[in-house]
Amino acid sequence: MAERVIPLVDQRHAALPAGVPERAIPATGSLSDSLGRPLRDLRISVTDRCNFRCSYCMPKEVFDKDYPYLPHSALLTFEEITRVVRQFVAHGVRKIRLTGGEPLLRKNVEVLVEQLARLRTVDGAPLDLTLTTNGSLLARKARALKDAGLQRVTVSLDGLDDAVFRRMNDVDFPVADVLKGIDAARSAGLGPVKINMVVKRGTNEHEILPMARHFKGTDIVLRFIEYMDVGATNGWRMDEVMPSAEVVKLIHAELPLAQLEASAPGETAERWGYADGTGEIGVISSVTQAFCGDCNRARLSTEGQLYLCLFASRGHDLRSLIRGDAAKGTPPASDEELASAIGQIWQGRSDRYSQLRATLAPDQGGGARRVEMSYIGG
Ligand code: SAM
Ligand code: SF4
Ligand code: SF4
Repeated sequence: MAERVIPLVDQRHAALPAGVPERAIPATGSLSDSLGRPLRDLRISVTDRCNFRCSYCMPKEVFDKDYPYLPHSALLTFEEITRVVRQFVAHGVRKIRLTGGEPLLRKNVEVLVEQLARLRTVDGAPLDLTLTTNGSLLARKARALKDAGLQRVTVSLDGLDDAVFRRMNDVDFPVADVLKGIDAARSAGLGPVKINMVVKRGTNEHEILPMARHFKGTDIVLRFIEYMDVGATNGWRMDEVMPSAEVVKLIHAELPLAQLEASAPGETAERWGYADGTGEIGVISSVTQAFCGDCNRARLSTEGQLYLCLFASRGHDLRSLIRGDAAKGTPPASDEELASAIGQIWQGRSDRYSQLRATLAPDQGGGARRVEMSYIGG
């Protein structure tokens, strides 16, 4: 087996400055980037901390007790998040996903949900407001989240076998507690619940069929995600990726499937329905099939940096606009200035990492230090 090199470094990099353009870019709801892609989906990381240590995301060797997590003062407050989200929504965002780290570890996160649930899209509709969680605290929090206005949750679950699951979360967390969380989310009305299973060859591919059988016939949509080369700490290797096509083939052999239409443009999952009409699964092929062409997603890090791609190495520093910069003597930006700054950054976007992955030389970004998934969220 090839030796694994895990760099022991702080993965955060100096942010790119975010400036206010001289000519205002008013928020008209129809912003598009340099490749003509609109801005529709914003993922917000509300904490860089997590109570799990999934080896593909926050390996224990790196995220140990000495890891330099962000101090509380660096985090955007709920008011700051809501203010900046308002500008994103004015530019056309319709869907917000709270993530992390583990978003349910952020104290009183339901207060943020409540503030975001009051916002309306440019067409006057409520936002599609969701959250991705490891499920560990869901049984306790599902009801409060629903009451605050959360619409749906996605729960990450990499297997049903308790031993496999405990090994993958690497903190010995029992699978039964996550299953209780999923039940609580369903009874609270946070559905349809989606389940994300990251498939790592050699680790949990034997859990694919048990997971498919378990959730078939329920209103839960199980999605299989290819193990991705995000960040720089997970020691990613292509031979540990199980291509989605193989996952579909494996399930189809026992439980026949037929491909379904995509639910929305820019949707990451390819949908497959059970031939006997008892529900559907999804596959997210971020490694083997590029879907950058209609990628309409932006990501806001815990400390207010705007990332234009999951694989970007640097974000744009919105926090110093939101708070002003005492060192430079600049006051906090007005709402219009903030909207213009976001507009300029998105208009300059040309990221399409997945599409270029195969052709990139290491010095062109293929091997560059990238931001960790736990920092900007999935
Ligand atoms: N802690 C929450 C959770 O696990 O659901 C939210 C944050 S987590 C970073 C968001 C999603 O990213 C999870 O579904 C997780 O499985 C996925 N993820 C993390 N690292 C990944 C990797 N290397 N490849 C594919 N998916 C990954
Ligand atoms: Fe934590 Fe989620 Fe990353 Fe696992 S995938 S370590 S639960 S942030
Ligand atoms: Fe979007 Fe970047 Fe993923 Fe392509 S690689 S789909 S641009 S986040």
